[in-house]
Amino acid sequence: MAKTDLKTAAKSPKATGKNGAATRASTKTTRSDSTIADKLIDLYRLQSLDSQVDKIQTQRGELPLEVQDLEDEVAGLETRLSKLQEELAELETSVSDRQNLIKDAKAQIKKYEAQQAKVRNNREYDSLSKEIEFQTLEIQLAEKRIKETKALIDAKSEVVGSSNSLCKDRKKDLDHKRKELDAIIAETEKEEKALQKKVDQVAAKVEERLLVAYKRIRSNARNGLAVVPVERGSCGGCFNAIPPQRQLDIASHKKLIICEHCGRILVDEQIVQSVEGAE
Ligand SMILES: [Zn+2]
Repeated sequence: MAKTDLKTAAKSPKATGKNGAATRASTKTTRSDSTIADKLIDLYRLQSLDSQVDKIQTQRGELPLEVQDLEDEVAGLETRLSKLQEELAELETSVSDRQNLIKDAKAQIKKYEAQQAKVRNNREYDSLSKEIEFQTLEIQLAEKRIKETKALIDAKSEVVGSSNSLCKDRKKDLDHKRKELDAIIAETEKEEKALQKKVDQVAAKVEERLLVAYKRIRSNARNGLAVVPVERGSCGGCFNAIPPQRQLDIASHKKLIICEHCGRILVDEQIVQSVEGAE
């Protein structure tokens, strides 16, 4: 009878009223007909699948951080490099400034020497000689500074060269790591999708009321565990001891029992074995 009802409902999905209500009621009856043990098995299976999804998501969450670290390192090297190049450009400007100064000084000396040829007395001649001497000293000083600056430029160029090759190497590493991580992410996404499909299949078997409770407990638990096994007489979620009588109740599968301390649903070894043995 129930089968016919379901078929009719499936043929006309828009059917409402008594027919729809009857279908829902019969489905509900079928579900609550399943034993507590069956419900516990479904819940624990759901938990086990959800935990696997959680694990993948946690692992994947850490992967981009590794790429991020490398990206930061490369960005740091590039900043350092551009700063070095700026300093190098400044040094080169100061060399060319001094070269211009030498050119000007030489022109001045030529001018003074020409004037010296036309002077009328010794005083004018001496004064021009002093100017020439001053300009000559300026040229010597500029030449000394240029020599020093060029030595600095050589040293800095060497640093730029090595920084450049280090930066290139790290960029290569980054490229490699990015590809590697992209592949891992793609792979885990595939795995996660397959697991999620199983999660949906199992969740569809769990009655709505239980599913809501399961999700609520799971979202409140730090580790995402809503259904936990009894382990050595303690709750597998909060590790508080469970009284012997309560342990017997859990093992009897007569009703759903939650931990008095953390509110998680408790299952015994037999349920765990049913789920893990089936995997
Ligand atoms: Zn507990």
